[in-house]
Order: sequence, then C-alpha cells, then structure tokens
Amino acid sequence: MGVSGFIKGFNFLHRTKPRSRVCPSFYLQNRAFSDSNILNNNDSLLPVLIVGAGPVGLVLSILLTKFGVKCAVLEKNKGFSKHPQAHFINNRTMEVFRKLDGLSEEIQRSQPPIDSWRKFIYCTSLTGSILGSVDHMHPQDFEKVVSPISVAHYSQYKLTRLLVKLLEENLGFHICKSEGHEGLDHEPLRGREILMGHDCVSIDTTDQCVTATVSFSKEGKSMTRKIHSKILVGADGAGSTVRKLVGIDLKGEKDLQKLVSVHFLSKDLGQYLLNERPGMLFFIFNTEAIGVLVAHDLKQGEFVLQVPFYPPQQNLEDFRPEICKKLIFKLVGRELSDIDVIDIKPWVMHAEVAEKYVCANNRIILAGDAAHRFPPAGGFGMNTGIQDAHNLAWKIAILLKGVAPSSILATYETERKPIAIFNTALSVQNFRAAMAIPATLGLNPTVANSVHQVINKAVGSILPSGMQKAILDGIFSIGRSQLSEFILNENNPLGSSRLAKLRDIFEEGKSLQLQFPAEDLGFRYIEGAIVPDSKDAVPAPEVPTGRRRDYVPSADPGSRLPHMNVRVLSNSANEEIISTLDLVSGDKVEFLLMIAPVEESYNLARAAFKVAEEYKVSMKVCVLWPADTVTGVHPESKATLAPWKNYLDVIEVKRSLDSLSWWRTCQMTEKGALLVRPDEHIAWRTKSSIVGDPYSEMKMVLSTILGIESE
Ligand SMILES: Cc1cc2nc3c(=O)[nH]c(=O)nc-3n(C[C@H](O)[C@H](O)[C@H](O)COP(=O)(O)OP(=O)(O)OC[C@H]3O[C@@H](n4cnc5c(N)ncnc54)[C@H](O)[C@@H]3O)c2cc1C
Repeated sequence: MGVSGFIKGFNFLHRTKPRSRVCPSFYLQNRAFSDSNILNNNDSLLPVLIVGAGPVGLVLSILLTKFGVKCAVLEKNKGFSKHPQAHFINNRTMEVFRKLDGLSEEIQRSQPPIDSWRKFIYCTSLTGSILGSVDHMHPQDFEKVVSPISVAHYSQYKLTRLLVKLLEENLGFHICKSEGHEGLDHEPLRGREILMGHDCVSIDTTDQCVTATVSFSKEGKSMTRKIHSKILVGADGAGSTVRKLVGIDLKGEKDLQKLVSVHFLSKDLGQYLLNERPGMLFFIFNTEAIGVLVAHDLKQGEFVLQVPFYPPQQNLEDFRPEICKKLIFKLVGRELSDIDVIDIKPWVMHAEVAEKYVCANNRIILAGDAAHRFPPAGGFGMNTGIQDAHNLAWKIAILLKGVAPSSILATYETERKPIAIFNTALSVQNFRAAMAIPATLGLNPTVANSVHQVINKAVGSILPSGMQKAILDGIFSIGRSQLSEFILNENNPLGSSRLAKLRDIFEEGKSLQLQFPAEDLGFRYIEGAIVPDSKDAVPAPEVPTGRRRDYVPSADPGSRLPHMNVRVLSNSANEEIISTLDLVSGDKVEFLLMIAPVEESYNLARAAFKVAEEYKVSMKVCVLWPADTVTGVHPESKATLAPWKNYLDVIEVKRSLDSLSWWRTCQMTEKGALLVRPDEHIAWRTKSSIVGDPYSEMKMVLSTILGIESE
C-alpha cells in the first residue's frame, strides 16, 4: 500500500477511545487487528526503529535497550548536531537521567558552576547599565526536599555527546558513520546501531510491519533501502518527516516569531561576564541593537545570540559573520578581539501540538518536537520530549514482551498530549512575560511584528524590496530610540516611570522565569494507564500563570511519586539512604507496591505478587517502616510475604522532627498503599485499607492499567 492508501487506512483503523476500568470489546478489537502480528517472533523484524538521533531519539533508544527491547536509530545528518540550542535541563528530566548509568552525575560535574548561571540580567549593553537582574535559584532549590536532584544548565550538543557515549560504551551501540550501511535491503538491522546519513523518506505499513524507505549516499551515489520494524517512532524534530508522511496535523499558533541564532565563542567576553555580571540570559536593549544572549558556558566563552529576523525584507545575507560580529560589539558595548562566529541559523518559534501521537494501529508514534513545538521560554521543549520517551519506553517494552495489548500505546497519547498542550500554553505565557520588559521600555515587539505583517501583506508588499527594508529599519530605529540614555534615566519623567515599572515587574516575579517546580514535578496524568480514585472528579484544566509556583507533593493517581529519603534495612552496618524514587527500577520494567507494615497491606502485597505472576509482570513490594521504629532487618516482612521474595524493607529518614511522615506527605493513612509504574508515576492507590478481596482488587487494578480483559 502506498502512503496515501496507508493514510486512508490508518484513519479508518485508529480510534482514540478513553480507557475505562475494563473495556473488553475495545481491547479485543485492538488485539484482533494487530497484537498477534506485533508479537510474532519474526526475527527478521527489528522491534523498534527510531527516526531521529536528537536528544529524544537517543534517550528513547537508551531506555528501550535497558528494558531489553532491540532498536536502531536513523539520523539524516552525517554528524550529530553541534548547535548548543537547549541548555536548561529541568528537575524531572534530571530525575530520569539519575537512572541512566550516572548521566546526571556527569552533567552535574561538567556543567558550569551554578553561581555563573542562576541569574537573568537586563541591561543596555553587556558593559553598560543594568536595568535589573533576577536570581532564579531559591534556597529550597538546593535543599533536596522535593527531589533528590536539582536542575542543570548544559548545552544540548554536549548532552548529545554524553548520550552517544553511554549508548556506545555501556549499551554496545555501533555508530555507522560509513557511507551507507553494509547490510543489503533484505537483511534486517541487528539493532543497537545508529545509522548516520540515513534520511527516512517514506513509510508504508501492512498488518505485519512498518516499512521505512531510507535514502543515503554511497560512493557519491544516492541510494535507498527499506527497513522493516514492528514499531516506528518519529523523533525527527519540529519539521518531522514522519509526522508529515502519516498526515498528522499540528494544532496551535504558527510563526510566533522568526529569529536568527548566532553561535559564537569569545573567552574575552566570558571572562568579563564571569568577573562582572555572571548570568545565563542577558536581555540587551540599546539604541543600536536589541538581542538576547544565552551564555552556554562563561568559562569556555560559548554563547548564542538570538536576534529577531524579519524576512523577506531581511535575509540571511544580513546576518553574515562580519555583520553579526558588529551587532555583537554593539550589544557588548565594545569590540572583542577573540570573537569566533561558528554558526548562524534562522529558526521559527511555534506553539503547536500534533493532533495525534499514535497512529497506524499503534505502530507509528511521534515523540519530542515531532509531536510538539513550543517557544523556548521556560525550557520545556527538550524536557517534555525526554519525558515523552520515558512514558513510552516501558509501554513499548511490555507490549513487545506480550504482557499488555497494543492499546497500552494509546495511553501514551492520552497521557502525554494534555501535558504538551499545557506546556505549550505555559511556554506562550513565559514568552509573553519575556516581552513585558521591552514593552515597558516603550519597545512593544508586537507592534514591530504587526508593522512587519502590514508591510508583507498590504500596500507595503508592492513597494520595491529596498524601500520595504528601509521602512522596516526606520521603524525599528524609531523604536530603539526609546532606549536612549536621554529617555531612560531617573531624571526624565517618562524614563523614571518606565524604570519604576520595570522594578515592579522584577519584584513581583512577572518577568520570564526559569523554574516552574509546580509544573516540572507536579504534572499529572488524569487518564491513561492508571486507575483514578473512584471519587475523583476530573479536575478542570489548569490555566498556566507563567509565574513560579512551588511543587506540592501529591500521591493522586497519575502524579509522579513524591520524593522522600529512606534507609534500606539490611543486615550490613552500612545501610544505604536512597530516594523513594530509587525504589523503582531503572533497568527493568517493574511495578512497585508501597505498603506500611500492617496486616491488611501484607495481604494486599501477597495478592499483588500473585496477580503479577499471572500477568507475567515484575512486581516489587516495598515495606515502609515509620521513622525510628526498627533497626536492621525485621523478620516480619519475610515471614508474612513468603514465599514471595522480591520485596525490601525501608525506613523513613525524616529531615527534622516535625517533618511529615511518608503517609501524611501522601495524604493517606498508613493502612493505604501505592502502586507505582515503571516511570515512577502512581498508577493506583488506596488511601486506607481496601474493602473486599485483595486478590480481586489487585486483578482489577493491574488489568485496568495494562488494558487486559479481566475475566
Ligand atoms: C534557541 C532554542 C533554545 C532552546 N532551549 C531549550 C532549553 O533550554 N530546554 C529545553 O528543554 N528545550 C529547549 N529548546 C528546544 C529543544 O532544542 C528541542 O525541543 C529539542 O531539540 C527536541 O529534541 P528532539 O530530539 O525531539 O528533536 P531534534 O533535536 O530536532 O532532533 C531530531 C533529529 O532528527 C533528525 N531527522 C529529521 N528528519 C529526519 C529524517 N527524515 N530521517 C532521519 N533523521 C531525521 C534531525 O537531523 C535531528 O538530528 C530550545 C530550542 C531553541 C531553538
């Protein structure tokens, strides 16, 4: 079937239905369509083909490999991207990285010191007056109360390097850099390989598999080959070919702003800023130039300058290296002797989410920028994408192991799409918060954009291009004149009122924020592979504020498991202190049942082990003892849980005498229990002991989460 036939086919077959507790006919229907084929032991089929070796594709390949799923990655470029692009790694992503063989520690060791990037600075030039500065690290960000790890500042290309190193050195991946892969068309990929210079150009699907046609060059000739897989994941970025090939539309706002990124090095500038005004982002406004400078690493003198771009009146010729250098000098306020412009790239800011994440009978899946593209304000793009991969990997693994039907993949869309829609709105809010500063200075960027649109669309467009450019330049320079020292000083009534408004914006936290703990750690899946509390009313969708709000721990189903330190009880003198998040395995797909050492919960745990064995899923039980109740291993768990062995006893480690206990933190009684998924999200809970038969309850719970028909 060709692509167009295929598109018609998948629209007919794919239905996104809400998952209810048990919906046998839906699962039966889905299974009949595809599961036997997805599960067939046809060794000639690669289980998962990932298109795109950006951070999302690479993280997904690591997670799948750890979970025992063979996969290969295609990358259209011959080398990995060297553009710094993303740099802010949020708290949740760092928690995911904690489980990837020391990746988070390596990032913490290699990133610039926090004091060199905790502030955003607003100034008239890098050597001129400071209009304001905002410190984005609060004392609680260092205290490890809500998370065992903190946020990081580390350039995307350096992260990519670490991910590739982990894949090669720890997971046995092979990076095929040669022109063309040696395998012939009919030879299957072995898995654990990244094929560089391989561009996915078309996709076809049958009942048996997904076939990607891939173009590459060999000895100067353009060639193609076909790669067959059970599942194909499009992690191929904002312009996703996979998304276009399967005909999935994006919904939202396009073309919010066009910009040019100028990647440059200057140790001179880095050293100056380190000594005088260290920061991560510098918003610079003066009569000659306006721009946002991202300091990726002050010690190495690595920067990216973002400047607004107004094509067609402006074109890339207006951003030649020599012109960019002059622009940078105007923003710095002096010349730099060692400036080295490395790369100049235009890009467009959108705020859009794909209408579907999963299609073709759960065989083709989008992740990362392929599924959503946000304004970078707030740094949610890559982070959301990496968290997509974290949600998806265990679901693919249990599907391919035959534990869950393919409908488990539909829950990926049910869970992740609302998060992307929310993060899009939040990023737009943040973008608007960032615009509040130039607007207060009399430089309303929306006016510039409107004027530009008028020139493009109406009478202006019939003017010669040189005249259009002159008009635009004239308008910009009139705007920038608002930034003259004559206006912007305390003695000028207009300037003094603008400066006072700026101070208010900074003090009230209404400027662009860096950290969003409530959204970063507190995002929650409302429906999907979870069992909601029966009395749960579906909460109304939240409207993002764009302001920093603190995270409040929650054990509502769908939330990330709260963090608390616990000591692992063992017979050794050195009892390890870990986070509750570490109770969930990072190396295999395993559910975790957390209970207190009370009789009812032990009964529930035995039932959970039994049901898990029947469903062939791995289950671990954690018996959580209240602080100061036991020392060393207590015989009770062993005696009560026998013959089951996959359990561990841990004891709360309270931060202070008045800290809340674990069950109080979770707003539950100690007769309650929590079932946690392999991605550390809570799948089910009971706030106090369950009424009825524990075996039937656990059967209902696991069958609902996995989407298995319950007899
Ligand atoms: C200026 C800027 C600053 C940003 N800052 C942050 C930040 O601080 N924090 C944050 O979280 N996010 C940030 N982002 C967003 C972040 O860069 C993206 O969200 C991230 O790159 C998405 O990763 P990805 O793997 O989904 O896609 P990409 O990084 O775009 O990777 C996709 C890969 O797929 C390959 N590919 C494309 N088509 C094909 C094909 N047909 N066949 C094979 N391969 C293909 C591409 O070559 C590419 O290597 C920023 C973005 C910008 C522009």
